[in-house]
Amino acid sequence: MKLNVREFSSSSEGFRDELDALLAWDSVSDAGVQHAVAGIVEQVRLKGDEAVIEFTNKFDRRQVVESSELEISRDELALAKERVSPELVDNLEAAAQRVNDYHERQKQSSWQYQEDSGTVLGQKVTPLDRVGVYVPGGKAAYPSSVLMNVMPAKVAGVKEIIMVVPTPDGVVNDIVLAAAYIAGVDRVFTIGGAQAVAALAYGTQSIPKVDKIVGPGNIFVATAKKMVFGVVGIDMIAGPSEILVVCDGKTDPDWIAMDLFSQAEHDEDAQSILVSPDLAFIKEVKSAMERLVDTQSRKDIIKVSLENRGALIHVKDMDDAMDIANIVAAEHLELSIDEPEKWVEKIRHAGAIFMGRHTPEAVGDYCAGPNHVLPTSGTARFSSPLGVYDFQKRSSLIYCSPEGASDLAKIAAPLARGESLEAHAMSAEYRILKDA
Ligand code: NAD
Repeated sequence: MKLNVREFSSSSEGFRDELDALLAWDSVSDAGVQHAVAGIVEQVRLKGDEAVIEFTNKFDRRQVVESSELEISRDELALAKERVSPELVDNLEAAAQRVNDYHERQKQSSWQYQEDSGTVLGQKVTPLDRVGVYVPGGKAAYPSSVLMNVMPAKVAGVKEIIMVVPTPDGVVNDIVLAAAYIAGVDRVFTIGGAQAVAALAYGTQSIPKVDKIVGPGNIFVATAKKMVFGVVGIDMIAGPSEILVVCDGKTDPDWIAMDLFSQAEHDEDAQSILVSPDLAFIKEVKSAMERLVDTQSRKDIIKVSLENRGALIHVKDMDDAMDIANIVAAEHLELSIDEPEKWVEKIRHAGAIFMGRHTPEAVGDYCAGPNHVLPTSGTARFSSPLGVYDFQKRSSLIYCSPEGASDLAKIAAPLARGESLEAHAMSAEYRILKDA
């Protein structure tokens, strides 16, 4: 079947405008959604559990009466794990272990140093006390999101992890609950959307207030997270998933077609882009896509996604491809090329970089080890994958010896007076040693 995917060339006039139009995405400025979410957040802040129950019944089509019905105990999580096939449990455990091992290497430690005067300066690293993990569940279930959001928090040493996951029509997903059990989540509530984000941010009679909310979700979730930022920390505002594949033309076109599909199947707004200096190869990939698309269970989503936001871009050479990769700053960047270790030096902006022909993004989504929660919509220009560092915070440490305080006061006091802050100046000067 014919696929309607945009094709253009970096050497054509107006290329940059065309590329910018392709990449344009605004995840949280829909006025109608903002208004609806503001109402939900405010109601939950004012009425707590009562509002959470009301919105859960409305949006997830449930008949909850008591807030206790919203919680799933650790014992129930263990039972859910029993209902999942042993093979899948093994795979979840193997993935959890690999994600754990990778993230262990991200741990930051406290440090300090002493100056000649005896003054000690340093940084104390402390895990967050309580974190809320949002696991999406409106249209599909995401056990991998449980592992990817919870494991770094566990490695960081977060004391309590609260997970929320919507259960439309009251149907729980055993694999998600098994993943929560394996990852070591402390409490699970079957709520979702803006009401869940607000409940975690402000706390209700039965849902504890957290210090930070992490995890992806739809536009209602993203908008709510942006709204409660400041009351709590958040990880990021996630847009639709995206992949940029750079290929030199020497990889099997079927492999590249499937790598592009693997993003496109997420949802209609997901973005899959191929960049190659080999025009004949681009045509081969297009033919492969047209041949394979109807074999896919999510073919309807794939087609719409590729038509909406997909593209096949012909470039002059590999340097040109790297320049475009840096402009796109993709969530997932595949370098399906010879000597990827040489070319990766040129990449400055990408959430995760998949190097070589044998590294499909799909392995990173589930079990390679690095986190799959990545900056989207070009935000890799200034942000990083979710990691242990997102669950640790830093406090500065300052210890002044008498000599050190005396020396520092002589610098601080004039600076304070320069700002007309006399008490600051005197507070420092009181510490000047008489004979100094
Ligand atoms: P979701 O859990 O994000 O949202 C479901 C909730 O949305 C419902 O519980 C309901 O409360 C709320 N909602 C739905 N319609 C509403 C309305 N009209 N008014 C108010 N609230 C409403 O689940 P989803 O919808 O399936 O979306 C999941 C999203 O997460 C997708 O966009 C998916 O691509 C994304 N995702 C991203 C990653 C990642 O790592 N980046 C991983 C998994 C999923």
